[in-house]
Amino acid sequence: MQFLYHYIHSGKKPPHLIGLYNSRSVEKFEQDLRFIKKKNLDRISKKMRFSVISFDDGLTTCFEQTIELLKKYQLEATFFIVTNTLNNKALAHEHLSSLIAHLLKTKYTSQKSISQIESILSISLTQNIRSLTKEIRLLPQKNIDELCKSIQLDAQDYLDREKPYLTNCQIEKLIEGGFTIGAHSCSHPNFAEISLEEQIYETIESAKLIQKNFGLKKIPFAFPYLRVPDNPVYFSEIKKTGLISEFYGQHGLIWDKSLPFIPRISIEAENAELPINVILKKEKKIQRKRFVKTLNRKIKSFI
Ligand SMILES: [Zn+2]
Repeated sequence: MQFLYHYIHSGKKPPHLIGLYNSRSVEKFEQDLRFIKKKNLDRISKKMRFSVISFDDGLTTCFEQTIELLKKYQLEATFFIVTNTLNNKALAHEHLSSLIAHLLKTKYTSQKSISQIESILSISLTQNIRSLTKEIRLLPQKNIDELCKSIQLDAQDYLDREKPYLTNCQIEKLIEGGFTIGAHSCSHPNFAEISLEEQIYETIESAKLIQKNFGLKKIPFAFPYLRVPDNPVYFSEIKKTGLISEFYGQHGLIWDKSLPFIPRISIEAENAELPINVILKKEKKIQRKRFVKTLNRKIKSFI
C-alpha cells in the first residue's frame, strides 16, 4: 500500500494552497508515522519494493515539514515531481487558481472592486475560497490571463518570492538522504481528458527530465488526479522505453499483481481529519464492495 499526501501544514496555509483540498497537520502526520511503524506497514510495502509514504506535486512545504519526521521514524518516501514546475519555473494551474481566489477574497473587498471583477468574470466573489478556486480552475486560459492582469498578479514574481516548488538542490539532498524521486507528468493534466499521444508525451518527457537531472536509472511514475489510462497501448508503448519502474494510480488499498499500477490511499480531502486506522477500515469496506461488484459482474457474465 502507498499513502498519498501533497503537503503537510503547520499553522497558516500558503495562498497557492489555501483554496484547495484539506491537508494533514504536522501533528496528525506524526501520528500516521507512528502507526505505520507500529503496524510494520512500511515493511509490507518494502517487500513489494515501494515506499509506504508519497508526496505528489513536488511542493516545498512537504520538504520543510516532513524530512526530519521521516528520518526520526526511519521511513522511506517517494516525491513525485511535476517537471514544468521544477525549480519554480511555472505555477501549476490549480495553485494559480488558489492564489487568484485568495487575492480576490483578501484584496478586493470593496463593493466597487467586487462588482468590477464580477462584471469581467460572471462568477460570484461572495462564495467561500474553496468553491471560488474551483470556479477559477474551470475558466478558459484567456479569462485567467485577463483576471491576472486586472488584479495585477505576477505569477513569476510570486514564484521568485515564495519558491513553492522543490529545486534541483533540494531534490539532490532528498536523494542523498535515501528518498526516491518520481515523475508526475510535465504539466499535470487529467489523463482521462487528453489523447493517447499526449499521455505518452507527458509520461516519457517528465521521466526523461528526472532521469537526466539526477542521474537516475528507472523512474516511478504517478498519474495526476489518480487517473490511470484505460488503453493498454499506453502501457505497452511506455514499457518499450524502459524508463518507468512502476506506475502509481487510482484509489485503493490492495495491490493485485495483474494490475499495471499500484493503488494509493489519499490521506487528504475528506480523510484529512480522520485517524489513519479509521481511513484503513473505511478503505477495507470500499475495497470489499468493489470486490463483490467485480465478482457479481464475473458471475453474471457466466449466466
Ligand atoms: Zn498531482
